[in-house]
Amino acid sequence: MVTGDAAYIKKINRSLIIREIVKEGMISRADLSKATNLTRATISAQVADLLEEGLIIETHLEHYSVGRKPIMLSLNGDAGYALGIDLDYGQISFTISDLLGCPVSSSIIQLNTTKYEEILPILIQQIKRIKSNYTSSRYGIVGIVVAIHGLVTKDEEIHYVPRFDLHEVNLKSDLEREINIAIYIENNANLSSFAERVYVHHETDNLLCATLYSGIGLGMMMKNDFFRGHDGFAGEIGHMIVVPEGKPCNCGNKGCWEKYASESSIFEYLSEKRQIKDLTYEHIQKWLNEGDEEVHQLMEDFLFYLSIGLNNMINMYNPDVLVLDSELLRIYPDSLHKISKNLNSSISHYRELMISTIGKKSCVLGACALAIKQFLDVPMLNLPYDLKDNEIENALSI
Ligand SMILES: [Zn+2]
Repeated sequence: MVTGDAAYIKKINRSLIIREIVKEGMISRADLSKATNLTRATISAQVADLLEEGLIIETHLEHYSVGRKPIMLSLNGDAGYALGIDLDYGQISFTISDLLGCPVSSSIIQLNTTKYEEILPILIQQIKRIKSNYTSSRYGIVGIVVAIHGLVTKDEEIHYVPRFDLHEVNLKSDLEREINIAIYIENNANLSSFAERVYVHHETDNLLCATLYSGIGLGMMMKNDFFRGHDGFAGEIGHMIVVPEGKPCNCGNKGCWEKYASESSIFEYLSEKRQIKDLTYEHIQKWLNEGDEEVHQLMEDFLFYLSIGLNNMINMYNPDVLVLDSELLRIYPDSLHKISKNLNSSISHYRELMISTIGKKSCVLGACALAIKQFLDVPMLNLPYDLKDNEIENALSI
């Protein structure tokens, strides 16, 4: 008979084994035993169960020089799928990844409404459609994470989304009533920082990621967890005042950082000044290539104000890795070098400053990764998928 205690211990051991397999990517039974301090017999029995469940697979290593070829264990990427949803102003992106975090499919639907009662049925309908496409895999869709561009409480309730004018909405329970899959609600900047940690910066336990697109959001990964603050709203760094009595912001203050150092501040200015309604990165790239002085000066000002806020952030958090997620920084020559030259205070300390290699998709990929982490119930993930290869754009289809 399996007693309550025995079942509990079995569950703990299972979790330890999964954590180690996820951490190492590939590991033999013997090394699992060493890493977990569990006996070979326990490892053998648990691994047999995990193989039976289809959650892990065995790989026979080829070209092994000495002795027997070890049999390696790794997560079975095809056992199930994660669904990441980015609920943004004007569009909703859906990305499905396998259990190793590799995106396999993606779709975008345009959103012509900001009303919650109209958005909810769209989400339910799309999720049900996607779920039905993945029923043949062992676990189907293992979890869904919805990214919200606004304030999310620690209890995963949506407190406020400025561009939708949404207040106090419980999307999690509204979705769970209709869909029998674990649902999580998370802030978009948090998910971008999670993607940076999981896909790129495997070694750090202190990472900040500032997204500079429609405003400025800050995601903070500290000791393998989000730093959320008291209510869950930490990281609203775009509303730090950098110019006293400066440009008015819709938060009610003047001179907020994001009025000077977010991409939308540049887009709004140029769109108005040059009378182009749908201004794109290609326009800006073209003007920069042509040596347009006004655009160059705008970019220099952008870097200047960006550096002021970064200096404040660095002094506040002393980060190990600081990632800047911005397409404009990617296209403007020498931008990173110029920013780091501005961060020359003898007090400011950070180890690495870099421009995101994942880019705008970090939010939705972070959502997929978080769903995987919750499903596996592990403290952190190191996913092997190399996003730099960037078939994401090409491989994904609606
Ligand atoms: Zn503000």
